[in-house]
Amino acid sequence: MLLTISTTIEPATDLGYLLHKHPDRAQSFDFSAGTAHVFYPLASKERCTAALVVDVDPVRLVRGHAHTRRDKWTVDQYVNDRPYVASSLLSVAIREVYGTAVAGNCSARPQLVKTAIPLQIELSALPAPDESLIADLFEPLGYEVETHPIALDPEFPHWGDSRYFEVTLSGTVLLHEALSQLYILCPVLDGDKHYWVDEEEIDKLARHGEGWLFDHPRRHWIAKRYLIYQRDLLDCAVEGYPALAPPPREEEEERTPPLYVRRMDAVVEALLDSGARRVLDLGCGDGQLIRRLREHSQFVEIFGVDVNLRSVKRAARRLGLETWPDIEDERLKLATGSLLYRDRRLEGYDAAALVEVIEHLEPSKLATMEEVVFEHARPRVIVVTTPNREYNVEWETLPAGDVRHEDHRFEWTRREFREWAQSVAHRYGYTVTHRGIGESVDGIGTPTQMGIFTR
Ligand code: SAH
Repeated sequence: MLLTISTTIEPATDLGYLLHKHPDRAQSFDFSAGTAHVFYPLASKERCTAALVVDVDPVRLVRGHAHTRRDKWTVDQYVNDRPYVASSLLSVAIREVYGTAVAGNCSARPQLVKTAIPLQIELSALPAPDESLIADLFEPLGYEVETHPIALDPEFPHWGDSRYFEVTLSGTVLLHEALSQLYILCPVLDGDKHYWVDEEEIDKLARHGEGWLFDHPRRHWIAKRYLIYQRDLLDCAVEGYPALAPPPREEEEERTPPLYVRRMDAVVEALLDSGARRVLDLGCGDGQLIRRLREHSQFVEIFGVDVNLRSVKRAARRLGLETWPDIEDERLKLATGSLLYRDRRLEGYDAAALVEVIEHLEPSKLATMEEVVFEHARPRVIVVTTPNREYNVEWETLPAGDVRHEDHRFEWTRREFREWAQSVAHRYGYTVTHRGIGESVDGIGTPTQMGIFTR
């Protein structure tokens, strides 16, 4: 991860005083999750560039030295994007390396600290849920913003762009504010933190936000993301800093169907689009999806499976089938079964749906489910939906930090779901596309996320 800061003040090398780092020296600093290096690739009177290279050690990060909160999530822990992108780890490095500059102290150039100077700031890879959000956040602060999406893999251009952007910010600003803005906004755009977030985070937000945050048009959203969607913290922040309150809703949104209806509609549509005729509903619960699938003659065979006998019986009753054990008619069949044991009855179908099921499995059991579904049952299309944890802050009644249902073993952010989906698709020879279900909120996404795997 590389952050460069350039200026053209006269003499430009005064940047060294402001940053408290001598332009002639390269220095390294150890911090909780790696090493930060500072040096000046360019230091002339006309232009001076300070470079901060953050070298994250993923092993150290995972081993708990940095208090990772990804403790529920073990797959691919050591292979992740953290070393390469601007995130809360960059914030730590900024604090460690440029701490005095962030505080706005400079006895050698006391006037210069209080003067807006021309700066050009470049970030090699800034994650963002959406490209336009980068400008939304930095333009109101007086920067001209240039963003270039980074391809997922330059060798495979058809894979498209990643959620990482090369970013250049140019403006005449106060250096210490610029550093504070990066300190807050990089993790805000990333949407995650590598450490446990508590009340202290509100103080940090207020301290580093002084002078620019409280009249930023997106201040509520910034606070929400900075506190990673923990409603109790957000409430507390708004209480202490009323400027962070949510903007009034412009108008009542039109009445739309409830989420579970939209979710079923989206799954039915994906299955219809796939051309599948024989479909599995894995973790079918009380048969809501099956009831809808039955309305479409395209589906000539529908097999619903659930581990819970009571659910299966209830589904049978609702679908008007005979009761246990003969719960089938010419198109529908229901049975108890677990996704954690290989089951030959699941083989030979065109498509499978797992609607709000994976989050009911222990994370340590996911790999077993993957084998059962993706390797052995192996339908051509697999549709998976799961809650988007980022959206939880939007539910009025959800206790902060809580999952939506007490039986949920985890809820994933969009990134976590994508990372999992990509890794499963890769291992079992599927490609995956993603869709959101429900009303989308800027930077948070939709309440439900759906992955459609195809091989
Ligand atoms: N798909 C339904 C139900 C979702 S609730 C709907 O959207 O309405 C999750 C369901 O997964 C529950 O019915 C639960 O019994 C089932 N389930 C949990 N673990 C399972 C397992 N190992 N195998 C099969 N089903 C499982």
